[in-house]
Amino acid sequence: MTDKPQKRIVPAKVDVVVIGAGPSGAIASALLRRAGVDVLVLERDSFPRFSIGESLLPQCMEYIEEAGFLPALRAAGFQYKNGAAFAWGERTTYFNFEEKFSPGPGTTFQVERARFDQLLAEQAEAQGVPIAYQHSVTSYAPTADGVCLGYCDNEGNSGQLDCRFVLDASGFGRVLPRLLELQTPSNFPVRQAAFAHIDDGIRDVNFDRNKILITVHPEERDIWFWLIPFANGKSSLGVVASEEKLARRAAQSPLQLLQQMVAETPSLANVLHRAQWNYPANQITGYSCNVKHLATDRYALLGNAGEFLDPVFSSGVTIAMRSASKAVKVLLRQFNGERVDWQKEYEQPLRQGVETFRVFVDAWYEGLFQDIIFYPDPAANLREMISSILAGYAWDTENPFVAQPRRRMKTLAQYCTPAA
Ligand code: FAD
Repeated sequence: MTDKPQKRIVPAKVDVVVIGAGPSGAIASALLRRAGVDVLVLERDSFPRFSIGESLLPQCMEYIEEAGFLPALRAAGFQYKNGAAFAWGERTTYFNFEEKFSPGPGTTFQVERARFDQLLAEQAEAQGVPIAYQHSVTSYAPTADGVCLGYCDNEGNSGQLDCRFVLDASGFGRVLPRLLELQTPSNFPVRQAAFAHIDDGIRDVNFDRNKILITVHPEERDIWFWLIPFANGKSSLGVVASEEKLARRAAQSPLQLLQQMVAETPSLANVLHRAQWNYPANQITGYSCNVKHLATDRYALLGNAGEFLDPVFSSGVTIAMRSASKAVKVLLRQFNGERVDWQKEYEQPLRQGVETFRVFVDAWYEGLFQDIIFYPDPAANLREMISSILAGYAWDTENPFVAQPRRRMKTLAQYCTPAA
């Protein structure tokens, strides 16, 4: 990866503006460029920059390949990932993503996002996508044949840019939802995450670095931790709980909170007994969000700019990349003069998979999903169906957990829940 100046002169007019160069923006812009579309990415920050969301799902490898990024990703030396492990007290279970119901890749990577996002953005640039770093989109105005966007660079210079279409890939920046008042409240309670990178010090040969480890708090089953090992002896560690529950701990800082929560959880404290807490911790609150609609004939919201559910199943980057791939296909048909219905062709199909994840997230916090996965004698075919969703294949309607997620989850939970 290069360390080159990232400033760029913004033209007065392009066909498509992509707001943000994160995973959804990099994939969308590369796919458009590959189709010969005149595209420009406006990115608020300079790269590399920190981002949360470090455990990928195998489904997203299809979009990385579609955008032509796969060889570079494979060569980058990120931590290989083939599944997810779960722990609660003495109980442990794991899912191997290669043993799944849906076809498609069964492995992926655990990535430090600063390096991963920079790699994707540079791959897009290598394919001819211009990225104007340190340029924030500040306004949106519809015009007779498209949109006029206002922007501002980090030196305070502002400008305007005409385009035919906007793809908002601004993540938690949520540029168009804010400018166009599209935001609606999420129906999840306000949760908080405290997280840090650590030198994990794990020497236990039985510890599987190829899997994310999700640990449930011993007494409060709606509190959980992620441990995402990287290839360099570091891990990403985070705890998620409702705001009130974390406030009760009265910790002085995110790092102290994280250490205190780990200390309350003996199985995780044991895994991390040699860890060095060498890096700053951070926290984020109230990240779940939703919008009135995801697209019109002038713009589409990708990834987190549209909706974000919850981190527990690591679905964010996969949803972001899938939204990019799907939106570009609809947009290319619109540019081709075809009549397209963004609701039917983009929003509804995308939301179907999001809905599958929503059912899994609800079941997680209700404890039902935990009853299911820690059930001592699960049927192999049911585990493969669940493994598919955990691997990101939440849109495969052949899978009964996609076709009827709530009903399937309820039935299985009734079978696996211990009698009161
Ligand atoms: P982003 O990656 O957020 O990129 C958006 C880009 O837009 C940024 O570079 C930003 O600088 C830029 N931008 C913002 N505003 C503007 C503006 N005004 N003008 C121009 N540019 C702008 N997902 C996973 O897949 N796996 C995980 O393990 C995981 N863990 C998570 C843990 C937590 C606690 C949280 C909150 C989320 C987690 N996620 C995870 C979700 C993941 O972080 C996001 O889903 C993912 O980064 C979304 O990608 P994106 O392309 O939509 O947006």
